Parts: sequence; C-alpha cells; structure tokens
Amino acid sequence: MNSDNDDTSTKTLTDIHARIEHAAKEANQTSRSVNLIAVSKTFGPEAILPLLKAGHRVFGENRVQEAKTKWPSLRESYPDIELHLIGPLQSNKTREAIELFDAIHTIDRPKIASAIANEQARTNKSLKLFIQVNTGEEPQKAGIAPRETANFLGHCTDTLGLRISGLMCIPPVEEEPAVHFAFLAKLARELALPELSMGMSSDFETAVAFGASYVRVGSAIFGAR
Ligand SMILES: *Cc1c(COP(=O)(O)O)cnc(C)c1O
Repeated sequence: MNSDNDDTSTKTLTDIHARIEHAAKEANQTSRSVNLIAVSKTFGPEAILPLLKAGHRVFGENRVQEAKTKWPSLRESYPDIELHLIGPLQSNKTREAIELFDAIHTIDRPKIASAIANEQARTNKSLKLFIQVNTGEEPQKAGIAPRETANFLGHCTDTLGLRISGLMCIPPVEEEPAVHFAFLAKLARELALPELSMGMSSDFETAVAFGASYVRVGSAIFGAR
C-alpha cells in the first residue's frame, strides 16, 4: 500500500539529514547532535504516516486544536512519537498542550510560564521547554525582547521552578537569518542554556552552522502549504 509515498518520504528524510550533516561538518559543529522536527501543520495523517513508516518520530505542530485532531490516534500505533509545540500558546490551552506535547518552544510571557508550571506540577509531567526570543524586536511577533530574556529566564527557573532547556527564534522574513542565529546562540551561551531551536526549510543549514540543536522543517519535507 502506498509504497511510492513511503519511498519518497525515506528519500526526503535522507536528503535533509545529509544536508544537516554537511552543514554541521562545514561549520565544525559536529560535537552536538541536530534534531530534525518535521513540521506537519496543515497536513493530515495520510502525509504523516509515510514518515512514521520511514522511522521518523519527531514532529512539530503550531496549534493545539489542530494537533488534538490528529496525534492521539497516530500515537496509538506509534507510542514513541515526540511532539513539539512550535506555535503560540494561549493560557487557556495549557492543560491540553501539556497533555499532548513533549516540548514547548514558545514560552514568551510570565502568564504562560506560570500556567505551564502549574499544569506540570498538577500532572507531574516535565516537558522540554524553550523561551522564544523576538530577536528582530518585531512588534507583531511573539517572543520576549532580547534585553528581557535574562530576567525572564530567572523568573521561570527561580520563581516558578521550570527547567528551561534553551532558546528559540523566528528571524524577520526580510533579514539575513545568520545574524539572528548568531545572536540567539550568543544569548544562549551567556545564559548557559544548552539547546537552540532555530532554522526552517529555507535556512536550516545556516541555523545548523550556528549551533542549532533543533531545526523545524515543514515545507521541505511535506511540500507547500
Ligand atoms: C511553520 C513553521 C515552521 C516550518 O516552516 P517551513 O518554512 O515550512 O519549514 C517552523 N517554525 C515555526 C515556528 C513554524 O510556524
């Protein structure tokens, strides 16, 4: 059944992994491993299943509601799926988010950090957590301002007891992403945070060169949305 699709998925994944490996080698970033998050937003189970059959397990979604409609049933067949929330979280969706996801990349304000802390304590769960930084200081974009990141991190860890793994950013579309990736890497180093979530289909190799530990790749795997 659908073996053409399965072959294509295997080839696509192999290609992306090869590009990641090449970019890491070129930049001497081979000491850390790069995790590929396949961003499946807007795509249904028929597009996701070939990747699961090809052995891929790490996926990203940007909306809690959408994720709820597809992942619980896929998890019945593939219990080792690792699901990342990469889009904005509203505090009234926190309970569902903690239930569904293994990682949240978009902590960007005290209210969300508190809601996550409360829900993790209640359920005795501990997700992998990232603070989203608005590196371009774009008014319309989510994320904490760069100069507020240290304070916010302190609030998350010291006051709320959250374990923050790293930083995430989405560079402004019209700017050179390398500048933003270098900046995020420097900020994470200063704050002693080990993980970096950065890089999408158009720029994941650049992100890897600057030390990304998670790249979030959608259209290069699933096609145009
Ligand atoms: C959609 C999305 C991606 C993937 O984008 P592509 O350009 O399709 O690779 C990555 N990160 C976030 C936050 C997204 O919303």
